[in-house]
Amino acid sequence: MNKIKTDFLVVGSGFYGSVIAERIASILKKKVLILEKRNHIGGNCYSEYDKSTNIEYHKYGSHIFHTSNKKVWDYINSFTKFNSYKHQVLTNFKNKIYQMPINLETINSFFNKNLSPHEAEKYINKISKKYYKNKYDNFEEKALSQIGLELYSAFIKNYTEKQWNTNPKNLPASIFNRLPLRFNYNEDYFKNCIWQGIPKDGYTKIFKGLIDNKNIRLEKETYNLNKDYKVKYMTIYTGPLDRLFNYKLGKLKWRSLLFKKKIVNVNDYQGTSVINFPEKKFRFTRIHEPKHLHPERKFKNDKTLIIYEYPKTSDDEPYYPVNDEKNRLRHRQYKKMAYKIPKFEIGGRLADYAYYDMDMTISAALQKFESIKKNI
Ligand SMILES: Cc1cc2nc3c(=O)[nH]c(=O)nc-3n(C[C@H](O)[C@H](O)[C@H](O)COP(=O)(O)OP(=O)(O)OC[C@H]3O[C@@H](n4cnc5c(N)ncnc54)[C@H](O)[C@@H]3O)c2cc1C
Repeated sequence: MNKIKTDFLVVGSGFYGSVIAERIASILKKKVLILEKRNHIGGNCYSEYDKSTNIEYHKYGSHIFHTSNKKVWDYINSFTKFNSYKHQVLTNFKNKIYQMPINLETINSFFNKNLSPHEAEKYINKISKKYYKNKYDNFEEKALSQIGLELYSAFIKNYTEKQWNTNPKNLPASIFNRLPLRFNYNEDYFKNCIWQGIPKDGYTKIFKGLIDNKNIRLEKETYNLNKDYKVKYMTIYTGPLDRLFNYKLGKLKWRSLLFKKKIVNVNDYQGTSVINFPEKKFRFTRIHEPKHLHPERKFKNDKTLIIYEYPKTSDDEPYYPVNDEKNRLRHRQYKKMAYKIPKFEIGGRLADYAYYDMDMTISAALQKFESIKKNI
């Protein structure tokens, strides 16, 4: 049988694979074949339209683009314009809505007080002081030392337990660093980023633009790396490493998510794009209402789309790496095996067994391209 010839083979059409393919095709003018196991491009950033409401939604969870990396921002803006959406997260506890991350509004509303920033800081220090330690051995210890028992029990403990299916005492203290605490009324979830927004024409359009190049060919619903490809320069693999090696050293563990769509016959169901539900009586952790991601669009008034998010153990769709010691070690061993394959590079969130935001993924792909450019 004739081998399929290509200069570069890219496995996976998420941001990592598509950006590298675009750079190789546009700058190096080399032929790239992209293999994608799903029936669509874009990886977990893929967006599509719900047929009955014509509302665009992100199939694998709401994705908000945010970055302070100018190189990434300039690059992505050559493929899309962004709207003015600013992300805000609310949380529903005992039928009352609070701001997340915990800010001055959350503190005052939860404790039924009217504290100034300075007073709130003093108050939180007072209630969390008894949990101070020199070294925090787990997530719960760290969280208690920062926000005290009441806020932790209401907003964090059960949400975390639902998300990770384990007692927060079993999670590393480092995860809590991701949840900031604010003593002001700022509600902008990504306030530390210079730029944020949602692509005006959706994420899928970006991917179409990235791979719209005569040097790029895409094969969807293709998993089989062992097919007869003759690759001149290099294969760039962005899938999971355990799968690549047929689980030789065992499986890498991931948490996954299940999304259930529902059409509701009201114009606006919850008034915002995402609300957290930390209480255990709800099996889901969040409700998304995607029309709020596009304040610039006009929608029909009679219906809206909402999406329930349920955490689950993954066997099919990997979302969040379970970054414990055992899995990290296993991943390192797989990485060593991958490095031994000639003309073979790995990258992206699946191969690196890491959580990357989109801007980090694009930045890593642009860097990898620079090293490829130097070395071919
Ligand atoms: C629930 C959730 C919400 C998120 N929200 C945000 C957000 O708001 N903002 C943000 O910046 N980031 C967000 N992210 C992160 C974002 O999804 C990632 O940064 C991005 O998807 C990483 O791109 P990637 O190319 O590395 O991986 P992916 O997008 O996963 O793409 C990998 C692709 O490779 C394909 N593939 C895998 N193995 C094979 C194989 N053997 N053969 C062929 N194809 C294969 C897969 O099907 C997939 O299409 C979120 C992530 C999750 C899980």
